Amino acid sequence: MSGLDLVAFDADDTLWHNLIHFEAAEKAFGEMFSHVLPPDDGAHALAEAEKRNISLYGFGVKSFTLSMIETAIDVTGGTVDAATISKLIKMGRTMLDHEIELLPHVEETLKALHGRHRLLLVTKGDLHHQERKVLASGLAHYFEGVEIVADKKPETYERICRRHGGRVERTLMAGNSIRSDVLPMIRAGGYGVYVPFDILWDHEHEEVPENTPRFFAVKDIRGVAEVAGRLG
Ligand SMILES: [Mg+2]
Repeated sequence: MSGLDLVAFDADDTLWHNLIHFEAAEKAFGEMFSHVLPPDDGAHALAEAEKRNISLYGFGVKSFTLSMIETAIDVTGGTVDAATISKLIKMGRTMLDHEIELLPHVEETLKALHGRHRLLLVTKGDLHHQERKVLASGLAHYFEGVEIVADKKPETYERICRRHGGRVERTLMAGNSIRSDVLPMIRAGGYGVYVPFDILWDHEHEEVPENTPRFFAVKDIRGVAEVAGRLG
């Protein structure tokens, strides 16, 4: 067995597409209310509501749907009709139901790592929806554990490692968010691997301080297997 106890992956925009659905909904929202304000402003107002509501509602589509309704009421000065609210709820349901679209090289990478390492999936968001996505992805069998968490802090990673009998300093976490996947894991004492994705939610933006030990940036997810091989 290798020197790494655990290899953990983020899910949304690391293993499969996620943000494109939110961006499309934000855009559609902007268009829906273009009679009261420019589409970009509507989309922006929604994005702001989402950020404002995270601490209360958490991450995920259901929270996003509530933010759409709240913003619809705001931007129309309270005159939005029930048919429009109903349309927003339907948009949320469609997002909950969308097909899982795996990102390139995901399956081959998990296949290569599986058997050599114990794999975990660590994702934020709505419990019910994330569980459904994991099942629908067809990737569940690669993972020894699936952890759906409210937030990704150093303590979160420590707790997860402990629960799975791994030493955090021998654990690698790979994901598309420096802020959630990479830095808190490094702060906990583990390895953080940044797997870039074309788009990033600005809430997740953070820079990596210079000379951060235990930090790796790879071109795409295949790089995670290379890094794990080197550390192992
Ligand atoms: Mg992600």
